[in-house]
Amino acid sequence: MKYSIAVLPGDGVGPEVVAEAVKVIEAVGRNFGHAFELTYGRVGGNAIDELGTPLPPETEEICQNADAILFGAVGGPQWDDPQAKTRPEDGILALRKNLGLFANLRPVKVFPAIIDSSPVKPHLLKGVDMIVVRELTGGLYFAKPKKRWQTSRGRRAVDTLRYTEKEIDRILRVGFELAGGRRRRLTSVDKANVLASGRLWREVAVEVSRDYPDVELEHMLVDNASMQIIRQPAHFDVIVAENTFGDILTDEASVLSGSMGMLPSASLAGLSRPGHRGRRTVSPSTRSGPALYEPIHGSAPDIAGEGIANPIGTILSAAMLLKHSFGLDDEAAAVERAVDGVLAEGYRTGDIAADGGTVVTTARMGDVIAGAI
Ligand code: NAD
Repeated sequence: MKYSIAVLPGDGVGPEVVAEAVKVIEAVGRNFGHAFELTYGRVGGNAIDELGTPLPPETEEICQNADAILFGAVGGPQWDDPQAKTRPEDGILALRKNLGLFANLRPVKVFPAIIDSSPVKPHLLKGVDMIVVRELTGGLYFAKPKKRWQTSRGRRAVDTLRYTEKEIDRILRVGFELAGGRRRRLTSVDKANVLASGRLWREVAVEVSRDYPDVELEHMLVDNASMQIIRQPAHFDVIVAENTFGDILTDEASVLSGSMGMLPSASLAGLSRPGHRGRRTVSPSTRSGPALYEPIHGSAPDIAGEGIANPIGTILSAAMLLKHSFGLDDEAAAVERAVDGVLAEGYRTGDIAADGGTVVTTARMGDVIAGAI
């Protein structure tokens, strides 16, 4: 069976970390006898420079024709002009929206071998295993009006936080389904004490929970959640949050793992039950396309080109791709074991080298992980 993957490395460290994930995918292909067909496309700042748009039509076509998308990161200071008509980040936002990828799954795990890389005390990190489900195509990042303008009394700007009942319902169902197969606790994050959209979110969460009596639902205000993620991280099983809240909380949660460079993500148009490849059972989007996998970090312009970025978040994103898009659970588990093994052997990129170990380059880290599969 042939699997086709659209590969969009993007800007900054994106191409560096994606190259290592590709090595790992190729090692899986060799060792498990699969043929992966990779097609590369431009996205982000480099696409603006070359083709005048952050998401060129040819890239969209490559994505539409693929079974899954592996994405690096976009952005950088050279494209940060606030007056610019388009930004690199518009490329990834449009891709998510156009493909109907409303559910962003961000697993947060602590790797025992690098527990000292986290500034959080080790005893608090014991047993941390949570997954944040971030709503990805609505809320503050997307709703209109969204603009800035000049008035006689100075500049003004507006963003809008709007949700429909249907958008809230479908993201919560993804969370409940996941929680049902895990420790059966769902934390619904909102700001119901201040925001009307938060009160609707909470109401819908209660209604959806009636279909999942085995899962315990708790509500948490986002400000409290940001504190509890550090105070008692092992408390959490599945967290479901609005787009912006989920974005911020997962950067915070990455501190538990020791580095932003460690965490993967999957952006899906619905959830397939394990073993039922391609059959979405939870709230499929009418415009659903292939799922997209990317590390949670950005283009890290401060370290781009130095060969020191941590590729593990992207490699683990490739593992999620194998599992969620292709149903290759054993292969995904082999990648995860290879990462665990290489960390246990003491290999480190600079960002996770608080305990010393053998500090290696991005490319060497990719080589040893690919070699361990
Ligand atoms: P960032 O995630 O790029 O970097 C934050 C910090 O983490 C930096 O110190 C960086 O060096 C470090 N870091 C990130 N990834 C790392 C890795 N793999 N290994 C080691 N260290 C790593 O966030 P930022 O600096 O706020 O944003 C930089 C650019 O990335 C901006 O243009 C932003 O818009 C963009 N961005 C893109 C995406 C995306 O493409 N999905 C996501 C977030 C930010």
